[in-house]
Amino acid sequence: MGGGRSIREAYAEAIQWLKARGVQDPAANAELLLQGLLGWSRTQLLLNWSEPFPEEEMGLQWQQWLGRKALGEPAQYILGEQTFYGLPFHVGPEVLVPRPETELLVERVLALGQQLWPEPGAAPALGDVGTGSGCISVTVAAGRPQWRVYGSDISAPALETARRNAARHGARVEWLEGDLLEPYVAGGIDLDMLVSNPPYIPAGDMAGLQPEVQLYEPHLALVGGEDGLVLYRRLADELRRLPRLPQLVAFEVGQGQADQVLALLRGVHAWQQSEIVPDLAGIQRHVIVYDRSR
Ligand code: GLN
Repeated sequence: MGGGRSIREAYAEAIQWLKARGVQDPAANAELLLQGLLGWSRTQLLLNWSEPFPEEEMGLQWQQWLGRKALGEPAQYILGEQTFYGLPFHVGPEVLVPRPETELLVERVLALGQQLWPEPGAAPALGDVGTGSGCISVTVAAGRPQWRVYGSDISAPALETARRNAARHGARVEWLEGDLLEPYVAGGIDLDMLVSNPPYIPAGDMAGLQPEVQLYEPHLALVGGEDGLVLYRRLADELRRLPRLPQLVAFEVGQGQADQVLALLRGVHAWQQSEIVPDLAGIQRHVIVYDRSR
C-alpha cells in the first residue's frame, strides 16, 4: 500500500488487483464497494477523487472487502445492501439479491392496480409470494400505503430480512411464513392481486450460472425443479384453492418460459387481458393476466 495514495489511486489499484484475480466487471465492483466503504454517492466520489484515501480508518476493511470480492462474493452481500426501486434493501446470503428487471414488475403492478381500483378509498389486497428480501412487497406498500400488502416466504430467515426492510422504510406489510399459497389458503386470505418472482432456473442449468450466483445466492430462491416451471405449475394449481381467484396475477419468468407460464394461467381461468412484458435486455420477463371487471 503506497503511503498517501488518493482515492482515485486506491480505486485504480483495486481494479487492477481484482482484474488480476479474474473478477468480472472489476471497475463496476470496485466503484460499488468504494461508495459503500466511504458512504458516498457516485457524485460525491467523483467530486472527491483527489482526496487522500482514509488508509488508517478504512484500509484494512477495504483489503478485506476486495479479498471477498476476489473469491467471487457478490458486492451486494459484502455491502449487505442493494438499491431497489430507489430504496436501499438489506441483503444477505439468506435472500436473493433484488434484480433491476423486477423493478419493472413493481412498476407495472402499481400502475395496473391503480387502474383496476381507482377509487380514492380503495384498499385492494396484494400478496407477494416468495418475498425474499421483501423488495416487491415493501416497495408496493411504500408506494401505495392504502393497499393491504402481504409478503410470504417458506424461509424464516428471509422473512426476518424482509421485516427489517419494511421497518427501515416504514412500509406496512403483513408477513406470512409458508410454502407458496398455503398460508393464504390456510388463513382464508382473499387476494385481489398475486405477484411472484419464484425460483425458475432448471436444476440442470445451475452449473452453467455465473459462480457469483451459483456459489453465493440461495438455491432455494433459484431452482425451479427439473424444467424450471415446477413452482409455476404449483402456483397455478393452488390458485384454484384460494377463497377467491385474484383479479390480477403477475409473475416474473425466466428466458423462454413466458408462453408456457401464460398457458398455465389460462388453464386456470379465461382472463380478459394478458401481457408479456420484455425487460430492458428484450427478454420476455413478466407474464401478467387480469380481468378488467368481475
Ligand atoms: N421476491 C424476491 C425478489 O424478487 C425474491 C425472489 C426469489 O427469491 N425467488 O427478488
